[in-house]
Amino acid sequence: MQKLIIYTLFISVWLSAFQLSGSAQKIISFEENPVIAHRGAWKKNNLPQNSIAALKHAIELKCAGSEFDVRMTADDVLVINHDPEYNKLPIEKTNYKDLIAFKLTNGEKLPTLQEYIKAGIKNNTSTRLVCEIKPSDISKERGKEVAEKVVQLVHKMKADQMFVYISFDYDILKRIIELNPNAITQFLDGYKSPEQLKADGISGADYYFSVFQNHSEWIEMAKKNNIALNAWTVNEVAGMDWLIANNFNFITTNEPELLFQRIKHSPIASGWKLAWSDEFNYTGLPDTTKWSYDTEGNSAGWGNKEEQFYTTARKENANVENGNLVITAIKEDYEGKKYTSARLVSKADWMYGRIEVSAKLPAGRGTWPAIWMMPEGWSFKEGNWPDIGEIDIMEHVGQNLNVIHASAHSKDYQWQKGNQKTAVITVPDVSTKFHAYILEWSPDIMKISVDDSCYFEYKNEGSGISKWPYIKPFYIILNLTIGGAWGGINGIDDAAFPQSMEVDYVRVFRKE
Ligand code: MG
Repeated sequence: MQKLIIYTLFISVWLSAFQLSGSAQKIISFEENPVIAHRGAWKKNNLPQNSIAALKHAIELKCAGSEFDVRMTADDVLVINHDPEYNKLPIEKTNYKDLIAFKLTNGEKLPTLQEYIKAGIKNNTSTRLVCEIKPSDISKERGKEVAEKVVQLVHKMKADQMFVYISFDYDILKRIIELNPNAITQFLDGYKSPEQLKADGISGADYYFSVFQNHSEWIEMAKKNNIALNAWTVNEVAGMDWLIANNFNFITTNEPELLFQRIKHSPIASGWKLAWSDEFNYTGLPDTTKWSYDTEGNSAGWGNKEEQFYTTARKENANVENGNLVITAIKEDYEGKKYTSARLVSKADWMYGRIEVSAKLPAGRGTWPAIWMMPEGWSFKEGNWPDIGEIDIMEHVGQNLNVIHASAHSKDYQWQKGNQKTAVITVPDVSTKFHAYILEWSPDIMKISVDDSCYFEYKNEGSGISKWPYIKPFYIILNLTIGGAWGGINGIDDAAFPQSMEVDYVRVFRKE
């Protein structure tokens, strides 16, 4: 058996060696990650940006691509540099020999495009060369001339297949496509929709990441139109996680090592696919296509002697601002109650999946925020609780700051009997930092985590719905209770109001 494997290995190595030398055509197989090193991989090792050393390091890291910037000197030499000036000399107005009198900080010479391509195709058949062509400050025409020279050189050096061309100048990209209809191009200035890009033969949208947050509909539009999605320049975990969850083709970053870690850690890496989300990247009332308000139990104090009145579409109690949903409890006389607040219910529901909610919690005594799930068909007034089932992904009471509870209630295991399935975890800063509160629910098991710490596991015992009623779709509830049988045990600190729960995002992942 072992012999056979070695033999097969030998044959395939021999074959690929033959293909390489025989056709002089390299077999290109790009890395399947989305990591594009912005100006090479320079930051961690303190290399100069756009240096050949930074390019080589991006290739060593197995990035899907390494980005760099091309400009042209006064005597028409293509060089790699981001800024229009190099050592205070305007590149476009300075001759090459005068520029190279100054070295990069690692002792490297200012690379020419030719030197850069040479280094970029040496022993590299898997990291794309992502070439940004800078518009010329002298004239629009000169910018196109630069593009022509770049395309010619790339072709001469047989590097066409390794190249992705990006530019802020749409006409530069159009010129590149005229010269090489197979060229991969991505537009950098975020004012064209993916449909417009497609109509013009541009292959990708490489936009500042907030453009996609403000035009979230472009993400689906791009996927539908086969327009590659790339976002720059994403150096923080929150942005990375959002783009990974949304399956971006590329993410351009100064922190490729960090991005690799986030990819490994992401739900996508475990086979989850984003099915529904609200990132709260808008302002005003919560999106009515996604959320409704639950007020059914107001007059009855929700059976828990709760003291708030949940309002409907009232921005004082539920508003989206600064990228977050803010549910605020206010001390005010309202409809016979002494506090107002909100209870939002997702319009969609799901059976099984990974529900992830990033939230920051209130700290005041008497507050009782919750992130939880109930099934279709549950009605407070019909009294079919808890037989119908309840999943509490996060509960917190202000008098017991930083202690997070997860629970599952059913007919046989429930709060009134004191035998609900439950667990706690202490998180030191729930009211000052956002944490991800996560449920993973399958037919066999329910797991609840805060960030990376799983602290609740409940296995389906296989003894029927009185213990495992979690065999139907459940919807998500986000609310901030005031007082009540648990939240109000030690009274309510009226001096602490208003009190808010902030939600950065709600993401639902599913496996097919
Ligand atoms: Mg650039």
